[in-house]
Amino acid sequence: MSELSYPYEAPASQALFDRAAAVTPGGVNSPVRAFRAVGGTPRFMVSGSGPYLTDADGREYVDLVCSWGPMILGHAHPEVIAAVQDAVARGTSFGTPGEGEVALAEEMIARVAPLEQVRLVSSGTEATMSAIRLARGFTQRTKVIKFAGCYHGHVDSLLAAAGSGVATFALPDTPGVTGAQAGDTIVLPYNDLDAVREAFRAHPGEIACVITEASPGNMGVVPPAEGFNQGLKDLCSDNGALYISDEVMTGFRTSRAGWFGVDGVVPDLMTFGKVMGGGFPAAAFGGRADVMAHLAPAGPVYQAGTLSGNPVATAAGLAQLRLLDDAAYAKVDAVSKEIQGLVTEALAKEGVAHRLQTASNMFSVFFTDRPVRDYEDAKAQESFRFTAFFHAMLAHGVYLPPSSFESWFVSTAHDERAVQKIADALPAAARAAAEATA
Ligand code: PLP
Repeated sequence: MSELSYPYEAPASQALFDRAAAVTPGGVNSPVRAFRAVGGTPRFMVSGSGPYLTDADGREYVDLVCSWGPMILGHAHPEVIAAVQDAVARGTSFGTPGEGEVALAEEMIARVAPLEQVRLVSSGTEATMSAIRLARGFTQRTKVIKFAGCYHGHVDSLLAAAGSGVATFALPDTPGVTGAQAGDTIVLPYNDLDAVREAFRAHPGEIACVITEASPGNMGVVPPAEGFNQGLKDLCSDNGALYISDEVMTGFRTSRAGWFGVDGVVPDLMTFGKVMGGGFPAAAFGGRADVMAHLAPAGPVYQAGTLSGNPVATAAGLAQLRLLDDAAYAKVDAVSKEIQGLVTEALAKEGVAHRLQTASNMFSVFFTDRPVRDYEDAKAQESFRFTAFFHAMLAHGVYLPPSSFESWFVSTAHDERAVQKIADALPAAARAAAEATA
């Protein structure tokens, strides 16, 4: 790497990381936080305010991760905090129904036309796991189609991401997932409708559902090709399978109705998380009322949760959603475009081959000169350039996702000062990317 290897120290974060490693595998509670893809010391954050995070060493960063999507209003938004404080003061969990969860469901349904009913859960993983169980229960079929490079949480059967070509039966991607769990998952290349058509032909009457990220952000940002999502929906309809659109990342972020608000393709089931929880563990799945009617206690498909619809989480999510009006989305879209322009300009100036791909206000940079349409394309990028770029940005006070396979996120709080700090950091980062060697 360049001279920018790790010239900046983070002793307090390092000390915390050492302590963490003694009590937690790898020192983190979710793997990507460990900086394994880029090396160096993960920053332990102590506070967030607007577009900024402050780490244990007292350094301030412009945050382009936004907690991997949820913090679309920035950190510690006063109205969200007030709603949380109000809810907390009334008790933190009752294990009974409450009005907050009804209001949150109503707000979601009012925004997203295909949502006729929703069930609240606590994580995106639970949402996709439950949606798939429901699809299997409803259709009385077992097989699931997913796409390589799409992440739907750490659901056993969906961790199967290996395989390419037509109708490849997936091998488990991780120890602990059995062949039986992965064996009903068919992993296909993204943006390849012919592969989906062929899978339906090869398995007549066996496929319960197709699950796809509404617009993938987990292999970097790789939007669906024109007609891809509609083609999936049509193939599902023609073959008696359900089309599940995973909007955990895009939901209430890419527009007030999420990616559905962008492409208008009507799913049978949808999954949500991140933005709808306002920074708390709240997630959901929902869709067609006739399908949702199969869920316990209305129907036979079991699903439950001690903390589902938690009053503090629902208060935070509701407060955040209510603040997300057209003006808020216009602001997020505008600042995203501005940052995209700055990134492209800086990299072009240094002659660094790159593709900046967008899905509404989500975007990411691939260090390649070719369009990225699927996971294979994404893996072909020069990730070592990202590593140099990432560390130079970090050294200049900009916190990017610590992997080249992640979307970048902005918020309504990213103001002129924050954008200027990014602009100031970019020339050195672009130079580092240009000089990086594999
Ligand atoms: N689905 C998508 C599209 C995601 O991006 C994620 C997480 O990043 C999940 C599901 C899983 O959500 P969670 O991490 O809340 O379990």
